[in-house]
Amino acid sequence: MAELDLGTIRDRLLIQAETAGCCAVGVCNQEGLEGGPPSTDLTRQLPGARAAVVFAYPVDEEKLELYMGKIDHAPYQEDYIRSNNITQGLAGEMTNQLRKFGYEAEVVYAGNTPADGTRVDVMPQNERQRKAAELNPAKASDIMMGSIPVISQRHLAAAAGVGFFGMSGNILTTTHGAAVTLGAIVTDADLPPTPVLPPEANYCDECNWCGQVCPTSFMSRTDFTTVKMGEHDHHKYSTREHHMRCASHMMGMAGLSEDGKFSSWGPGRKPLPKQDEQLLPAIMEMGGDLSKRPEVPGGFYDAQRGSKTNIMCSACNLVCHPERKVRAKRLKMWRTGGVSVQHEDGRIETLPVEDARAFLDAMPPERRALYEDIESET
Ligand code: SF4
Ligand code: SF4
Repeated sequence: MAELDLGTIRDRLLIQAETAGCCAVGVCNQEGLEGGPPSTDLTRQLPGARAAVVFAYPVDEEKLELYMGKIDHAPYQEDYIRSNNITQGLAGEMTNQLRKFGYEAEVVYAGNTPADGTRVDVMPQNERQRKAAELNPAKASDIMMGSIPVISQRHLAAAAGVGFFGMSGNILTTTHGAAVTLGAIVTDADLPPTPVLPPEANYCDECNWCGQVCPTSFMSRTDFTTVKMGEHDHHKYSTREHHMRCASHMMGMAGLSEDGKFSSWGPGRKPLPKQDEQLLPAIMEMGGDLSKRPEVPGGFYDAQRGSKTNIMCSACNLVCHPERKVRAKRLKMWRTGGVSVQHEDGRIETLPVEDARAFLDAMPPERRALYEDIESET
């Protein structure tokens, strides 16, 4: 293979991602990530890593609207599975290309937390990571739950100019907002970085509609996380509370919002305790309920847990579009589209709040107990 300079190799990879349908692509390097949390040290995944290629693949907006409107769950979930496979496949192909040029490269797996079976220890391993951990201390609950990623795709995306942090903490792209699937690879090739997006490109007007579509208290209203990496101060975002508050909705254990007016796609109604210390037993009970409920059609095998799972929320990223009127429409759809119930064959349907109440009331108590607290009523 002909010798190519690093700039040309980089540009080839970026074109490859664009050709595959990505809406934003970029490259960041170790210097541009300096100051971020330990999960921005690329050497955690690949010794000697110098750079990362990052890309965002857009979600199908028609399917997204069926999902946000609580009209149909399956098309978006299928698109979610497909887009994840595309980004992971694209990342694999990029690593092959780099290896052909004599460089080492690895795919950053989107769910690469210690719980996915990786042997990588996410606790600080070197001086850079120890300093990073002091600047960006991890919450005890994140260490306990294993929710700290080996490599944070979000931080890589911000440093590569693929997007910017919004108040949700998600990465917002200039064309498709946060409704994207991120992908990344790390490599020891010293690829030249692409620029961070300028602050004026950030459309986040702090509308807090990401917070309003969230059925639980995951995004703090009072605490904010600030990110400084390399020379750049990135947009602050709402500090994320206990990981299980979000995960319980993502997995469909929980569903109903705290105000009881809307839900994620999960049919669960048991409230999450306000105190983090009481969360674990509640989550264990909900996990038990989930395992006894009928299987939701579709879904995919989660590499972290090895079990079949379904995607039941993501509203905070799907609501967020660069155009405020599109965002407003999605907010309304999600919050007025009804609440989820589950049929005996596993199907999830959303019904108006009163109809959902009647649906649950018609269930035998042992079945209803898989969805809501009935102890106090018996
Ligand atoms: S929904 Fe609003 S506040 Fe949240 S990230 Fe998007 S623009 Fe920012
Ligand atoms: S995925 Fe759902 S539960 Fe999790 S933070 Fe976003 S809106 Fe909230």
